[in-house]
This record gives sequence, C-alpha cells and structure tokens, in this order.
Amino acid sequence: MPKKTVLISGGAGFLGSHLCDWLIGHGFKVIAADNLITGSLRNVAHLKKNKDFKFMKQDVSKPFKVAGSVDYVMHFASPASPVDYMEHPIATMLVGSYGTHHLLEIARAKKAVFLMASTSEIYGDPLVHPQKESYWGNVNSIGPRSIYDEAKRYSEAAAFAYRRVYNMDTKVVRIFNTYGPRMQIKDGRVVPNFIDQILNNQPLTVYGNGQQTRSFCYVDDLVNGITKLLLSKISGPVNIGNPREFTILEFAELIRKKYNPKAKIVFKPLPQDDPKQRKPDITLARKELNWEPTVPLEDGIARTMDWFAKNYFQK
Ligand code: NAD
Ligand code: UDP
Repeated sequence: MPKKTVLISGGAGFLGSHLCDWLIGHGFKVIAADNLITGSLRNVAHLKKNKDFKFMKQDVSKPFKVAGSVDYVMHFASPASPVDYMEHPIATMLVGSYGTHHLLEIARAKKAVFLMASTSEIYGDPLVHPQKESYWGNVNSIGPRSIYDEAKRYSEAAAFAYRRVYNMDTKVVRIFNTYGPRMQIKDGRVVPNFIDQILNNQPLTVYGNGQQTRSFCYVDDLVNGITKLLLSKISGPVNIGNPREFTILEFAELIRKKYNPKAKIVFKPLPQDDPKQRKPDITLARKELNWEPTVPLEDGIARTMDWFAKNYFQK
C-alpha cells in the first residue's frame, strides 16, 4: 500500500516538529510548510535526509499549491506564546484566517482530512472550571490576547463551516499548555522562562500573585492524543491536555525545590487578561479516543531541563 501523505503547516515549530517525527515513525510521508517566523529548521534538521520528509518554506497566509496526493492536512502554523503573538499581531490574525482558508481549500481539493490546532485560549478567562468542550468561553474580543484567541475561534468556525457546506472531515483539537524539548528558550512561556532562570541561576519570575492556575502536558502525551484524533472517526472539538492543575506559585516552588532551593522568586506585574484558571476536562478524549496523559510533570520537566541544558548551554 502506498504511504499516506500529511501536509502540516507549522511543521518546523515546537509541536509541528514532534508531530513530523511521529508521522514519519508511523509510516507516513510528510510535507512541512513553514515560514520560520517562530520555528526553526533546527527542529527538523534530523529529518532532512529522510526520503519521506519534505520541507517547504512557505507563508501559508498566502495562497499556495502542493503537488501530488495529500491524505491529511494539519494546520499548526501560528505564533503560539503570548510574547510571540503580541510581537506579531497581524501575522497571527492572518495565519488564523487566510492561512486556515488556504489549508481548508487544499484539503477540499485533495479530498483530505483536515485537523486544526485550536487552543484552550478560546475559553478566554473561563467562568466554568474545569473547561469542557461544551463551554463557549469568555474572551475579550478587543484585548491584547484577542488577536490569537479570536483567530483560533474563527478557524474553528471555518473548519465547521467547511464540514457543513462541503461535507468534509474536519477536526479540531483544543490544546492546553504543552511543554517539552524544542520550545524556544526565549518564547516567554512560563516553562522555558523558569528553566532558563534555573540554568542561569536567576530568580524565578512569577506574574501577579501567582494564584492563577495552569495544567501542563508533556509533548509526547499531546502528540499521542492529537494523532489518535487524526486517525479517529470523530471531529471534536476535543480538549487534549493534562488535568493536573497548579497555581503558578506552586509550580515555581516545585521547580525551585528540585533544581535550586536557593533561587529567589520575584513577583512581576500580571499581563492584562491573563486567564485566572485553566484545566482541561478530558472526559471526551478518554471516552472517544481512549487517551490520557501518562508523563508526570516531574519527569517531563526533568527531560525538558536536560534538553535545554544540552541545546542552549553546552555549545
Ligand atoms: P511554535 O511557534 O513553536 O510553532 C508554530 C510554527 O508555525 C512555527 O514553526 C512558525 O514558524 C510557523 N508559522 C507561523 N506563522 C506561519 C505562517 N504564516 N506560515 C507558515 N508557518 C507559520 O508554536 P507551538 O507551540 O508549536 O504551536 C503550534 C500550534 O499549536 C499553534 O497553532 C498553536 O496555536 C497551537 N497551540 C500550542 C499550544 C502549546 O502549549 N504549545 C497550546 C495551544 C495551541
Ligand atoms: N507566567 C509567570 N512567569 C513567567 C511567564 C509566565 O508567572 O515568567 C505566568 C503567566 O502570567 C500565566 C502562566 O504563567 O499566568 C502561563 O503563562 P504562559 O505564557 O506559559 O502561557 P498562557 O497559559 O498564559 O498562554
């Protein structure tokens, strides 16, 4: 049987590159389209010589064509950390609107399954806790995070419109905070910030009073969940994330205790519209995909810390 082909936008990013690895490892051909705005060719350098892997330098917010058959289209292109998307506000809105349409059109033309990376951010500063897929969210449509949140909400709407109008198989995964090797150390997210601070013997920066909560999923668990959805019969939206919830202060204490008990914690202003609480309800993924995360935070952080130490500090 010929190998199935997956077109993935954002394939040189953190999550995209791990998905490329999984797909190649499971017998797929992969075309990764990326303009490298926040990603890096380093993330896919090990795949360069693989005959089943092709890299296309492409801004997917502009129309483009792909030769040959495509069986699955995965739309992962978008700046993802608050620091990145606030630095690239217009590009973020374009990739979550024009970019989504271009990938949906390719999926339509190729009769491919379409899966888009949505986010827990579509729940905004949630008034329902934990967040279930049936919750419609609480987003400030003109706040600083809206460029990202609304673009993702729009992309979800587009995926479902194409499903209704063209009867396409479109899927939506709502990804909750995920961490692991290949994150950019300076992308401003809390995990790389704390790791950078530990490895540089700097104080840990906690924003606000640290009572806001998050739940952190290790990248391998996330990839397992997303690929189960891709190959399933269901469309979602499906939450994929780790339901173990921490306040950011608890998370800082956990890192400090294990890696540098002498590190100080310093408090910095809370960014505007920073969600106060976030935890996925993963009942749907458990039931429909038989998925749940297996990597404890302590193990995932140790693996991530090792990777950062080797890749950023032993040059
Ligand atoms: P990332 O920044 O590492 O990866 C995004 C990739 O998209 C980068 O390689 C970037 O260069 C590429 N890109 C951005 N705009 C593009 C464009 N116009 N054309 C082509 N390529 C473009 O971020 P990530 O954490 O890997 O996130 C990947 C996807 O998952 C994003 O869509 C993000 O919204 C979503 N997501 C991630 C998380 C998380 O915790 N990591 C949580 C929720 C949702
Ligand atoms: N945060 C923090 N210190 C940092 C970076 C982030 O306290 O150095 C907080 C941030 O305000 C938020 C949480 O950690 O409440 C998670 O932030 P991140 O940027 O990782 O992702 P978000 O979930 O906000 O998209």
